[in-house]
Amino acid sequence: MRVTALAGGTGAAKLLRGLAACLAPRDLTIVGNTGDDTEVWGLHVSPDLDTVTYALAGLLDVARGWGRADETFHALQAMAALGAPTWFSLGDRDLATHLTRTAALRDGATLTAVTGRLAARLGVEARILPMSDEPVRTTITTTEARLTFQEYFVRDKALGDVVRVDYDGASMARPAPGVLEAIGDADRVVVCPSNPVTSIGPILAVPAIVEALRSTRAPIVGVSPIVGGAPVSGPAGRLMQARGLDVSPLGVAAAYAPWLRTLLIDARDAGLAPALERAGVRAVAADIVMTDHAGEVALARGVLEAA
Ligand code: GDP
Repeated sequence: MRVTALAGGTGAAKLLRGLAACLAPRDLTIVGNTGDDTEVWGLHVSPDLDTVTYALAGLLDVARGWGRADETFHALQAMAALGAPTWFSLGDRDLATHLTRTAALRDGATLTAVTGRLAARLGVEARILPMSDEPVRTTITTTEARLTFQEYFVRDKALGDVVRVDYDGASMARPAPGVLEAIGDADRVVVCPSNPVTSIGPILAVPAIVEALRSTRAPIVGVSPIVGGAPVSGPAGRLMQARGLDVSPLGVAAAYAPWLRTLLIDARDAGLAPALERAGVRAVAADIVMTDHAGEVALARGVLEAA
């Protein structure tokens, strides 16, 4: 069964580990968010692609949900001593990824090519594609300032009222090679439990991707990142509110209308099933909070069966 998953970072990483345990590795294609890519110390950092790659390689720091396990931060300390900005923590092992990516991009490689090479070197057999090879940058406008996603989320700790969210460059961006085919040829399309505004939103902002989702014959199944009126982690609630979306599975379904067919929701939200049905989305109540590997695999099975 060929599965294509749209993915952000931490929530997606857990479900993808579960899916990888249920599928032949080559049957899993991941379309990753690059809207929160950023430049740190002159290096191109792709946080969501790296989180997914590290997760599937078994290298992710599971407690933090980002970066590599067994990480040290000597370079960060040395950079601080030189007066460099250090609010975006890059670990020593993680730096190897960003150095390799940046050098390859400078040599003319595409982000698709370098993402594939990094994954292969780290032993990942699933296919990881960036949503686009062209830059798309999520920007958050608060009442105070217009910020990149990392400035808003990491540097400023998601403080400040969000007035709007933009995906700069998206309208000019083309889907990366293979993305439209992966959606069109899949037996299942999965929307991971990721931030609908800043993880899945940028993917959907790339022209032609929504069209591919509308026209694929594959059933499209999502997992709600919102449980009992709040995200499991991160700023999804505030960002959904800023976009006029209800902070509930109903808001998630609205963000993915009209192509989402099935949404896995938490038992606590089972009362929303009739409203979801009216919105054209079949709700399946399940244990959607993943706290260990068994939970990741069980949810992945539930996703594949729900379709
Ligand atoms: P960010 O942290 O908001 O930038 O977004 P990411 O897309 O990288 O990942 C976090 C999202 O995953 C949040 O919206 C969480 O609510 C969601 N999430 C994290 N862990 C889980 C989980 O175990 N189950 C579900 N259903 N959602 C999760």
